[in-house]
Amino acid sequence: MSFVTRFAPSPTGLLHRGHAFSALTAHKAAREAGGRFILRIEDIDQTRCRQEYEEAILEDLIWLELDWETPVRRQSDHLNDYAAVIEHLNARGLLYRCFRTRREIMEGIGQAPHGSAEAVRPGPHAPDEEARLLDEGRPFAWRLSLDRAREALGPAWDDLAFVEQGAGPDGETGVIRARPETAGDVVLARKDAGVAYHLAATHDDALQGVTHVIRGRDLFEAAHIQRLIQALMGWTAPVYRHHRLLMGPDGKRYAKRDRSQTLAELRAGGMTVKRLRAEMGFD
Ligand code: GLU
Repeated sequence: MSFVTRFAPSPTGLLHRGHAFSALTAHKAAREAGGRFILRIEDIDQTRCRQEYEEAILEDLIWLELDWETPVRRQSDHLNDYAAVIEHLNARGLLYRCFRTRREIMEGIGQAPHGSAEAVRPGPHAPDEEARLLDEGRPFAWRLSLDRAREALGPAWDDLAFVEQGAGPDGETGVIRARPETAGDVVLARKDAGVAYHLAATHDDALQGVTHVIRGRDLFEAAHIQRLIQALMGWTAPVYRHHRLLMGPDGKRYAKRDRSQTLAELRAGGMTVKRLRAEMGFD
């Protein structure tokens, strides 16, 4: 069986120990399986992504002694691909325009009975309101309608599942029933970017033939919605391996804001790649 995995950082900051663990885990799995390792730059958020961070990511990964296939796919170079998927889903009546601001959405959640993410289902605007907002040239996002997706899938909705070879935050492993409803009507195309993370990542995983998605446990919930997108588009579902998150000495996971643990900073402080790899259990 072929084995293709990927490391898909967003160049919104410098890589830290947690990213190194992720990249090393995926790279090692590919090598052990005699498979392929792909690097993908997820830079659709042009307000936060920066060229200098992309360059720093490459430098860090070289320092970690990783190698990957070229050319590297940079998502911002392929916005037309994602627009085509949005158009396709829209033509099937699965999407609706959402002009609401983040604040209006949050207020809506506050009024909902559970106040949870499940409540992020604002629904389409009334036709005359939508026409007016379009006329005014107001920006809008495309949301995936869970109701229409459920209708489109029919009985297959109840069989939506993915294979987890790692574990979710509550130890979920094995065949997991997908629960896309917990995310609400997710945004597939952001107002500012014309695409959003779930759509771009799922599209690229399918396009690049990724068989194993190896990433941190913080992204476990994303698999639920990504599985739905795969089913709607007829894309083969990869196997998932969500790995543990590295914790810092303070018991908190590493974050981009934690500059002291960036690979660049560690390197500048004399850390060798041999020692860092050994500390994380890679030799
Ligand atoms: N680009 C995402 C991030 O940096 C990772 C997406 C994924 O692995 O699916 O958090």
